[in-house]
Amino acid sequence: MIKARPHIAAMASYALARVDIPDGVTPIFLNQNESAAQPSPRAIEAAANAANLANLYCDCDWIELCRAIADVHDLDTNALLIGAGSMELIAAMIPAFAGPGDEVLSTLHGYAYFRTAAQIADANYVQAPEVDLTVSVDALLSAVTPRTRFVCVANPGNPTGTRIPRSALLRLRDELPDDIILVIDEAYAEFADHLGERTFDLVGRGNTVVLRTFSKAYSLAGMRVGWGVFPPDIRREVHKLLIPNSVGTTSQAAATAAMRDQAYMRSLCEATAERRDRFAAGCRDLGLGAPQSFTNFQLVVFDDPEAATRADEQLRSVGVILRPMGGYGLAHTLRATIGSDDDMMKTFNVLRTFMDEEAA
Ligand SMILES: *Cc1c(COP(=O)(O)O)cnc(C)c1O
Repeated sequence: MIKARPHIAAMASYALARVDIPDGVTPIFLNQNESAAQPSPRAIEAAANAANLANLYCDCDWIELCRAIADVHDLDTNALLIGAGSMELIAAMIPAFAGPGDEVLSTLHGYAYFRTAAQIADANYVQAPEVDLTVSVDALLSAVTPRTRFVCVANPGNPTGTRIPRSALLRLRDELPDDIILVIDEAYAEFADHLGERTFDLVGRGNTVVLRTFSKAYSLAGMRVGWGVFPPDIRREVHKLLIPNSVGTTSQAAATAAMRDQAYMRSLCEATAERRDRFAAGCRDLGLGAPQSFTNFQLVVFDDPEAATRADEQLRSVGVILRPMGGYGLAHTLRATIGSDDDMMKTFNVLRTFMDEEAA
């Protein structure tokens, strides 16, 4: 029989949990942190126009897109790499610098794709504890060994939604050995940009990478565009492992236009944050846990895993699909992407009925 290499055979395929929708129910999908709103009209128009060029290969150097990112964020275009989602950048970067026997360190509730990338590299994935559903710099530093090649922190975090301040990241970088690459995954940073805590300058230290994406705040998940700011030596190696032309012409055009329409993105983020905080406050009033989120989703914390499962079943029976978080060591929680006002009202009403029945 043909056999894959053992570390590949041991991997699970990427798959969403199967969702059974009862007959006659219109599902509301709040399980993938997708934006409820359409992309900027300028992005849609740009993608439609770019489709006229689909007979040609796309720009493999992403020139217009890099220029837009660099203009908006005051960055050097030469420091940027674009991937088919930030996932492609993660999948290329980890195997470039970590292999068998090496360790990729993240946190207990850290983003699962770091684990997948470590598995692709046949490296060991190690998780430091979190404190109050929040990344702990001390716990990360304690977990570093001579084999640690990467420390990966999603900030804000997924699925917790919490964040650590820039000062904590600075201390982490200062106290990490210089030959460990710090990856700061900022997939949700646009929802925290109003705090004014940029981290791009850390890339200048030569061993820190900052990743962002168009999938969340820019409402372009289906276009598959992520970007990162890399030190030159790291960028050169990661570039070799990216699949040429992985980000197509329409995707590049949509992302470029979306980046140049900051006002649209900002207003979406503000509206989402408002709905999120209202939903979280409502959950707390019901006696549920709801850690302050800095993202487009809200973690809802139940008393125990059984209660979370019962609530999940009740939500699903009326078509509201949240994400159970057992795979992240959080079986007593459900993660709710922030959808439209109507979606959140419906979700909240089911939770209220659920909590009433639990108390009865
Ligand atoms: C959604 C998400 C990503 C982005 O994935 P894309 O490949 O850019 O769609 C990266 N990191 C985290 C923590 C995320 O939640």
